Amino acid sequence: MTDKKTVKTMEFQAEVRQLLDIVIHSLYTDREIFVRELVSNASDALEKFQHQSLVNEEFRSSDIPLEIRIKCDKESRTFSICDTGIGMTMEELIENLGTIAHSGTASFLAKLKESGGDVRLIGQFGVGFYSAFMVGEHVSVSSKSAVKGSKGASWESDGSGTYQVSHLADLSRGTTVTVKLKNDHEEFADSEKIKSLIKKYSNFVPFPIFVNDERINIVEPLWTKNKSDVRDDSYTEFYRFIANAHDEPRFVFHFTADAPLDIKSILFVPGSNMEKFGFGRQDPGVNLYCRKVMIEQHSRDILPEWLRFAKGVIDSEDLPLNISRESMQDRSLMNRIKKAVVGRFLKFLEDEAQKSADKYGEFFREFGVFLKEGCANDMEHRKDLAGLLRFESSSTEPGKLTSLKEYITRAGEDSKEIYFISGPSRQSIESGPYLEAFKDKGTEVLFSFEVIDDFVLTQLGDYDGRKIVSAEAADMSLEPDPGTERLSDGEADLLCRWIQEHLKDRVSEVRVSKRLRDNPAIIVSREAGSTSSMHRVMQSMNKDFNFLSGLYVLEINTSHPLIRDLAGLRTENIDLAGLLADQILDNAQIVAGLLVEPRAMVERMWHIMRAAAGRDRGTA
Ligand code: ADP
Ligand code: MG
Repeated sequence: MTDKKTVKTMEFQAEVRQLLDIVIHSLYTDREIFVRELVSNASDALEKFQHQSLVNEEFRSSDIPLEIRIKCDKESRTFSICDTGIGMTMEELIENLGTIAHSGTASFLAKLKESGGDVRLIGQFGVGFYSAFMVGEHVSVSSKSAVKGSKGASWESDGSGTYQVSHLADLSRGTTVTVKLKNDHEEFADSEKIKSLIKKYSNFVPFPIFVNDERINIVEPLWTKNKSDVRDDSYTEFYRFIANAHDEPRFVFHFTADAPLDIKSILFVPGSNMEKFGFGRQDPGVNLYCRKVMIEQHSRDILPEWLRFAKGVIDSEDLPLNISRESMQDRSLMNRIKKAVVGRFLKFLEDEAQKSADKYGEFFREFGVFLKEGCANDMEHRKDLAGLLRFESSSTEPGKLTSLKEYITRAGEDSKEIYFISGPSRQSIESGPYLEAFKDKGTEVLFSFEVIDDFVLTQLGDYDGRKIVSAEAADMSLEPDPGTERLSDGEADLLCRWIQEHLKDRVSEVRVSKRLRDNPAIIVSREAGSTSSMHRVMQSMNKDFNFLSGLYVLEINTSHPLIRDLAGLRTENIDLAGLLADQILDNAQIVAGLLVEPRAMVERMWHIMRAAAGRDRGTA
């Protein structure tokens, strides 16, 4: 019974208000998902209780069965769902149903709005409960926490700015959510409709579900079954259930082992990468079980961080129910399970790549960023991860990807180095000066379009005994073409020295290039571990970052007419020659993707253009 005097009216946190506003006015028609969200909350609560009751004296109390009971009543237009799970105290009701703690909330809300309120995403962002307001004009929750001595509590709201809480007597353990349906959603008070929804969405709930006292689901943990006994659509349903997702899993990895460790696991690679949408870093998606009892949801320790995109279950009867991070023994056991699962998962990806390069390529486009992250941070798996990386290259068709292994096969047994060039796009790399010498020699070069690619390749350092070298740092030379005119060694030497003197510390060295044919000049890196695209990023973070700081060498092409003319101009018109030398460096920097100071460059260009115009009219 509610004691009227103790009813407290509370305001929703601003983010919740915004979310409710979108949910209530969503044009999205698939409103039935609220059933799945409430069932999934009931199931979570039961799993939490089940685990606690096994490890915590405070919880070992009654013999109330672990189950979910749904009641539909057309007469009163209500849908209610009752679980005998862990329950909530009044403080927990306020905390859990009045605020959102998730870090990506702001971008999630923006995305939700943009998509016209595609609320299917809601469950993946820890706000599934609020979907009840899509169909309900009023939602009430009564709950009693399983913690000994807790008082019952109730929560209710019509989804506008506030909600009411009060204490309630005479409740037994668990939670009941009652939705008073809106006029146009009375279909959810129809038990037949609800039964079919439960069959569709909630087959994998590990507790009995009753609808108007009729038992609906079969409880059967999929991961304990034989692979050959599981149908593809069961995997898909299970994936949707545990990931709160609505898409198809991209890959399903079902793995069992019994020695030296007992492991039963199903890992899913989702259809799409949620982090790509700007929702912030995702929480891990794999739950830890011991003999079908969940001991930890979204476990942080069972998989490496870069595998946070995987969803699923790892069950091991070797794990204690009461796992402790402080215990050396538990930690070492977790590490052994981790090692086994990750090793097999990487092997699985390798096999998938063999089976279908296209399907793997699609996976890589979506999730490759995680493999790269692993490659950069996870020493233990770096080598295997490197084998899973894919790049475009000068030998692939646009949009097609190649592995380091395939690169080596093409390069030949006795090749010693693997080359890569970074640039914003294939086109810009192909038309730039860096590829010239490689093209000429028919040497393949990997393309790195993103800084993380540069970073990972540089970090890797070598692969299968071959050094990985940035094209900017590579020691490349073209066979000199005896037919082309070029500056003599003496002239070239004088010119280099003069340019160097003129540019002062803008470059560390000026020298004659052996790698250019069509371009007059190029910037190359003096150190293997430093590429212009990494400098580009540092520049974008800090405008004053002195990117040249002695790391870059300007190479000039002494057969190019511009450079040959410059040698003469230096003695005739030293001012103009100086302007040209500065501009040559700026151009080479721009081609390397580095920023130049635009004001000074434009000013200089005016002078150079004046000289060019005057010269053609004979007045310069
Ligand atoms: P999520 O389930 O992803 O955390 P929800 O919006 O569905 O997000 O639920 C918010 C929180 O409210 C849950 O994390 C849980 O703590 C609490 N909660 C919701 N339903 C129940 C329930 N039936 N029993 C116990 N706690 C619940
Ligand atoms: Mg939920």
